[in-house]
Amino acid sequence: MNSTDRTVRRRCYESYFGALEPHSGPLYQVYAEKLRTLSSLAAARHYDSLCEAQLRKRCFPENGTCQLLDPAVHATLVESIQAHLEPYHRWQSLRAERLGVETLRPWDLRAPLTAAEPPTIPYETAIEHIIASLQPLGESYQEQARRFFEDDRADVKPHAGRNNAIGYCHSSIADGPFVLCNYADTFRSMVTIAHELGHALAIEQVRDRPLQETAAPRAVEEIPSVTHELLLYDYCIEQGGLLGEYGAVHRADSIGGLLFDQARYSAFVRALVDRVESDRQLTRAFADNRYLKLHTAFSPTVEFVEESRLEWLHRNIQRDPFHHYQYVLGAVGGLVVADRVRSGRWTDTEYRQLLVDMGRCSATDLFESIGLDITTPAPYQTAADAFEPFVAELA
Ligand SMILES: [Zn+2]
Repeated sequence: MNSTDRTVRRRCYESYFGALEPHSGPLYQVYAEKLRTLSSLAAARHYDSLCEAQLRKRCFPENGTCQLLDPAVHATLVESIQAHLEPYHRWQSLRAERLGVETLRPWDLRAPLTAAEPPTIPYETAIEHIIASLQPLGESYQEQARRFFEDDRADVKPHAGRNNAIGYCHSSIADGPFVLCNYADTFRSMVTIAHELGHALAIEQVRDRPLQETAAPRAVEEIPSVTHELLLYDYCIEQGGLLGEYGAVHRADSIGGLLFDQARYSAFVRALVDRVESDRQLTRAFADNRYLKLHTAFSPTVEFVEESRLEWLHRNIQRDPFHHYQYVLGAVGGLVVADRVRSGRWTDTEYRQLLVDMGRCSATDLFESIGLDITTPAPYQTAADAFEPFVAELA
């Protein structure tokens, strides 16, 4: 899907979804059954809704604590992002313009926007870039990052006996964090490592805390990883050239995906669950129609082709139904934190304190501490506004 050749991308998209199509019926049935079962379990445990039960997910990494996020936050998040889709629409139109195509098709969404060969970034070079990008957080934070790699805590090549993860940070307080990734010498791989390192170093800050303070609510867990991503994009853009070009495009792709695309899936799952919980029949036709409706709202510039209705079925349906919100909130918080760090208003002292507070505060209090009331529409509008210049810079 990263090819500069549109025919190759189209064939890749069509053959992937062509192979998925015969399994889509059973996959749909399994997913619908999963929602019905989880909903019944939530009711049996006296939750008002599956959403409420799911927002009381175990904190990360697991230490036995859970935190309830008000389901109203989920609803506010979805509605507020839906009310501010213009910058995301502009990003799609700009992508079409940069690619020189009349109509954007699903296989164009990861196409490089420059004719130059994509940069090849060996793993060792990626590590150097990532450590350099953390400069605004100070030398001791950079040193901690360097030690993480020297201690061989990143497992970056597929091998027997390991989860074939695209990117994952697993950890225990006793043994510390580890990063898994299938590193492929690409810009995207480098971003994955930077993202997962954000999780890993967040865990490093709390290993000496009392056990009950060593895990963060899911609603805030993506803030450090998005902050790392944003600092890496800044660094690459400063370097200029191909690295800068890829940095700017990936920044718009990644933050747009986290804010808007994850909000779209939050809205989608919510609609399916509402259907189940109001005792109306959840059918494949309902799911497909709802997906089409959301696709039209979020991605009006991207043509909905026959295979598009299968897209939601290949998206993390093995995960908890309510998991998309944490990425939206990660972007909302990460944009503010990265801004404070890059402007010099925060040094590593304040940043490390935020990471420690992640295990000590409720999610709403933590957001409050960085000036965001996530129970209101304002932070989502602020985030959509902060995304706008990422698009403008590429125009
Ligand atoms: Zn993450």
